[in-house]
Amino acid sequence: MIVMKFGGTSVADAASMSRTISIVESKLSQRPVVVVSACAKVTDTLYEIIELDHQGKKEEALELAAALRKRHEGIVADFNGEKDASLAAIKETIASIFSRMEKLVKDNNGKLMSLADKALLISSGEYLSSNIIAYAMNLKGIKTQWMDARQIVITNNDNLKASPLMDEISKNAKGIVNKAYKNMDAVITQGFIGASVTGEPTLLGRGGSDYSASLIGMAIDADRIEIWTDVDGVRTADPRIVNNTRGIKKLSYEEAAELARMGAKVLHPLTLEPAQMKNIPVYVLNSMNAGGEGTAILNRSCIFDGIKSISYKENIRVITVYSLSMSDASGFMHQVFEIFSKHNVSVDLLSSSEASITTTVEATQDVAGVVADLQKVGTTTVDRDKAQISIVGKNIIGLRGLLSETFNAMIDSKIYMISQGSTFLNLSFVVDRPEMAEILRNLHKTFFEKENGNENTD
Ligand code: ASP
Ligand code: MG
Repeated sequence: MIVMKFGGTSVADAASMSRTISIVESKLSQRPVVVVSACAKVTDTLYEIIELDHQGKKEEALELAAALRKRHEGIVADFNGEKDASLAAIKETIASIFSRMEKLVKDNNGKLMSLADKALLISSGEYLSSNIIAYAMNLKGIKTQWMDARQIVITNNDNLKASPLMDEISKNAKGIVNKAYKNMDAVITQGFIGASVTGEPTLLGRGGSDYSASLIGMAIDADRIEIWTDVDGVRTADPRIVNNTRGIKKLSYEEAAELARMGAKVLHPLTLEPAQMKNIPVYVLNSMNAGGEGTAILNRSCIFDGIKSISYKENIRVITVYSLSMSDASGFMHQVFEIFSKHNVSVDLLSSSEASITTTVEATQDVAGVVADLQKVGTTTVDRDKAQISIVGKNIIGLRGLLSETFNAMIDSKIYMISQGSTFLNLSFVVDRPEMAEILRNLHKTFFEKENGNENTD
């Protein structure tokens, strides 16, 4: 069996769904378990509906829901299945998903929606897309079983950003998938969605469909996991900022995970872990260019040392705590990180000296509480409008001239912090945000645009 995951843009409308279905059809002999995201932008709208509901704007929330309903009904209509008996069933499924949504919006009587209800409402996107694709596949003659991901992807109770329970998932998945496959050509299920042990609805956090695919792949011992997206695999840099980027043919699990953590948006950062546990190859492919080579993510023994890609986080803050008494007091680090943990703020980079600790955090996080508490243990400053750039690759630390070439590429820029990952996978630094794009382009020129380019790129 293989797992094929399709992201929002690969299932945005009837035309992209048809393209996706053709890709699946070409692999039926490998018994695909298809995992889909919600149609493009639908999850954003569902979060908006919840936000409007919180503000008491129920009419506006319901209007947004009605527009979503129209969009999904329109996709079904575009498949021209009027004569097929299954049309009534898909219409009914869509109607019931929206009536549940309306009920959740209307019936909370001024109270805030519970986290479980929020998760249920937000999961509508994947329920809709997976049901519509199953309908369209069957219409095309591909016998397809729709399967509820909540039976398989068992998680803890953290409704909106749950952690999977690997043992629970592994225990039942094979049996459930094999049963679904009985007399069928394909099985389709939802990304992003899970359930707690007691059956409460949960979600794996934004962008979590990649993670679902990998969890399911691990649990059924898939031969491969394919992540179908709308770009040609993982690239040497973000093509929206850097010209002349190249596709990367092969990456190790560790490199791909590091890139995702360091800001590359092509994969959810936790995706590689389950695949790596079972040594299952992961391919990042483009559904708009199905014949393309994409990127293979494999065991590190198949990967050469060296720089693979340059990633960035565009808007970060640098927090520094300075305390003269730090040098002879023990437990200062502990105190500082306890404060971050208490406020649920996650730290990216870290560097320290005798008298200070410097960390970076993404600007989307609210750091007011952290800063107030840090002031009690030392003088604390927050630098805004910074960007973080990471050079990622296996054993890059052994590369001759890495530092001199890197710093030459940014000779006129201020560097606020340097951090070398302890796994020798990344060299990261913090710069002023307005200079980021220029530095990325210079670094790309230095490492990827020289004559005799490397054979790992296209
Ligand atoms: N639909 C979800 C999101 O937009 C999950 C995903 O697409 O991966 O975050
Ligand atoms: Mg995604």
